[in-house]
Amino acid sequence: MHEISLAQSVIDFVNNEKDKYPNSRIVKVKLKIGKLASVFPDTLTFAFQSLVENTPLSHVKLEILELEPKGYCKDCSKQHPLYDNVFQCPFCGSSNGDITEGTEFLIDSFEIEENVPT
Ligand SMILES: [Zn+2]
Repeated sequence: MHEISLAQSVIDFVNNEKDKYPNSRIVKVKLKIGKLASVFPDTLTFAFQSLVENTPLSHVKLEILELEPKGYCKDCSKQHPLYDNVFQCPFCGSSNGDITEGTEFLIDSFEIEENVPT
């Protein structure tokens, strides 16, 4: 259940950012999460909602974009999607390569609502 600590890190981020925008409030945080990051979006959303409930951040919503895993084949130098977490190049069949996308957990952007009396 590391989703709780990830949710907490998003809350820390919001608390950090919100002071930069007086008379505004952050209403939505957009996350990019790779499908190999071992994060369950539903669990993360639930953990986040539980943590912000009855706090000044209870209006903040999460928007999660899942990123498809990608790999780079060192034998034929092509980027390719990864299926079922199996590292095999669909072009040449090689398993010699690197995972280039799909393990990230990023706070991509956020939306603010302006002129909100605080
Ligand atoms: Zn290849």
